[in-house]
Amino acid sequence: MKFPISVLDHLSCKQVALLTAVVASVSAASNDSGVGQPVGGLISVRVGHSQTPFPEWLTEFTGLKEWPGIDPPYIPMDFIDFDQIPDYRSYEQGVCGANPRESCSFDCDHCVAPDDVFTCSKLSQTFDDGPSLATERLLDNLDHKTTFFNLGINIVNYPDVYKKILDGGHLVGTHTWSHPFLPSLSNEKIIAQLQWSIWAMNATGHHLPKWFRPPYGAIDNRVRAISRMFGLQAVLWDHDTFDWQLLVEDQSLRTEESIYRDIQDWKQSGTGLILEHDGAFKTVQVGINVGRILGNDQMTVAECVGGSDYIKSFQQEG
Ligand SMILES: [Zn+2]
Repeated sequence: MKFPISVLDHLSCKQVALLTAVVASVSAASNDSGVGQPVGGLISVRVGHSQTPFPEWLTEFTGLKEWPGIDPPYIPMDFIDFDQIPDYRSYEQGVCGANPRESCSFDCDHCVAPDDVFTCSKLSQTFDDGPSLATERLLDNLDHKTTFFNLGINIVNYPDVYKKILDGGHLVGTHTWSHPFLPSLSNEKIIAQLQWSIWAMNATGHHLPKWFRPPYGAIDNRVRAISRMFGLQAVLWDHDTFDWQLLVEDQSLRTEESIYRDIQDWKQSGTGLILEHDGAFKTVQVGINVGRILGNDQMTVAECVGGSDYIKSFQQEG
């Protein structure tokens, strides 16, 4: 396993135990601030709470009977053409220079492809890493439609929260199954991360996602080639709150006040996509406050570019 897992919280309520684990990258510093270890997705498993039922069609297709853990198995699919995937080398987080600039890495070189979405004509919030229990508080306090990039493993563990997101009219894109640093993985493992996240959304929300935000913004033309075969379009950002640093004990990293100051600055231009997180209550509270500063005149990612919400939506059975 690539990621160390540390149990953060251990709650129990009415015999429902909540285990929350943080998947944190072990990489060296990858940004200018010299801060290593960006916090990865908050992956939660609720023991005793019902998951999204594992659908029969998925058993027929995969031969499996339950949702996988954080390392999902690769299942071959007809439409994946390995000849179309460029032969760039895999690399670990923060270890840049393995590939030529033409590989167009966003995390290493801030390179974006022509079909990447990274800004918006109206300054708008986006939220990664849910759904979580904290997401519910956000939903109860947002007066505008927003965009969530959800982890498949969290979707099947929080199907009720996922449905509440949809009921609120928000847009959901995929943030992979379990939040790995995709450029470090084999083609097959990247495919597995996308296919299982899509199946989680299909089984829980009866739709297929169109929008895809790579964890850590880690995407190059190898990852893009694979994601495009699923019909996915990559979504990055041009304003980062670094709200995850609030979850780290070091007070010198980021304060709420510094985030709100940045928001006021960004509001002057009035355009852009803001990266935030709804995996924890602390960042959700910041998201609520940021929403109050910005107001409700925001767009979803699909609205930003005049695109559709989902590749396909299915009638719910039964
Ligand atoms: Zn994330």
